[in-house]
Amino acid sequence: MPAVTLSAALARIAPSQTTAMTDRAAALRAAGRDIISLSVGEPDFPTPPHVIAAAKAALDAGDTRYTPVAGTPRLREAAALHFNRDLGIDVPPRQVIVSAGGKQAIFHALLATLNPGDDVLIPSPWWVSYPEIVRFAGAEVIALPTTAAGGFRITPDQLEAAITPQTRWLLLNSPGNPTGAVYGAEEIRALGAVVARHPQMLVLSDDIYAPLRYDGGQHATLAAQCPELANQVLTVSGVSKSHAITGLRIGVAAGPQWLIEAMARLQSHSSGNPASISQAAAVAAFEGPQDFLADWRERLRVRRDSVVTAINAIPDLSTPVPDGAFYCMVDAAPLMARFASDEALCLHLLEHGVAVVAASAFGGQAGFRISFAADDALLDEALRRIAKALA
Ligand code: GLU
Repeated sequence: MPAVTLSAALARIAPSQTTAMTDRAAALRAAGRDIISLSVGEPDFPTPPHVIAAAKAALDAGDTRYTPVAGTPRLREAAALHFNRDLGIDVPPRQVIVSAGGKQAIFHALLATLNPGDDVLIPSPWWVSYPEIVRFAGAEVIALPTTAAGGFRITPDQLEAAITPQTRWLLLNSPGNPTGAVYGAEEIRALGAVVARHPQMLVLSDDIYAPLRYDGGQHATLAAQCPELANQVLTVSGVSKSHAITGLRIGVAAGPQWLIEAMARLQSHSSGNPASISQAAAVAAFEGPQDFLADWRERLRVRRDSVVTAINAIPDLSTPVPDGAFYCMVDAAPLMARFASDEALCLHLLEHGVAVVAASAFGGQAGFRISFAADDALLDEALRRIAKALA
């Protein structure tokens, strides 16, 4: 037994399975193995040149010092513009915080508000980090199970039935990771009507994939659809996925001022300000041209369609068509007679040169998530390898 032990809070959480599988694939590749990684969710498209130019210009201008904790005034203004223009949320810059990725904004929001005994409702399958952050904060995760047949969406009745006096948050993610589920405006308003009856609860609306939906619909988000919930909704967005700058780590969140201030209080003691150069790049991302997104969306749609077709042609695998984001949740239930678990299945696929993440990492079961934000030729080859590995 080591003399120094880890904290009880850390003991409650597991490492992120998305980043763990990605690191593992990178290590195998570095060791000379031919591995195609469809594990992490990041667009393979080149970062738009105007965003890179803004980062370089910031460096050349000596923009290398601390900034205000919640972000530069310029970026908070640009983010407020983004919330208004792209998500229909009317919010002043003081109700916006900039963090080191959407993940940090979520971390700070939950840590700033949760106490032991609180419950957090999370539709499952969920993004890997949601439940871990909740557990780290000492609160309880209450899963709201969804099914492929139900479009991986919760219903207002399901939400109402799950709410108790202990409910502190609902975490909503549309378009959703890992399922690609997208809620329509009416559904969002119906969920909002339930939330309005429970003023003790908050909703975290994670809209990071809003620019990436393939059903042609208009994105609907809770804070825009139900402005009367302004004091109960935190909307998280960013530039990582929309501008292919995952590594620059910039996320933004908009919500009631008391919550933004609470998050900034915590941020002032954790990372301090987000990286100054990254903030300059994010200003360019929010204020610059957005027209390239239509092309990205179309290319991702084509990839989505070919992945869905290829997966559904492999015996014992199936996937519905995701309406947004860039993931397919593959059902491999018939294969569980051959493999001890979906993790074992993923290790088998890794042996055959493809890295994907087990559904169980997302609170799902008997399947795996594929990210199709990868080069077309690599995607085709990965699907051939999966078919061969399971033949
Ligand atoms: N959100 C992406 C994913 O699910 C990035 C990795 C992560 O932070 O989980 O793959």
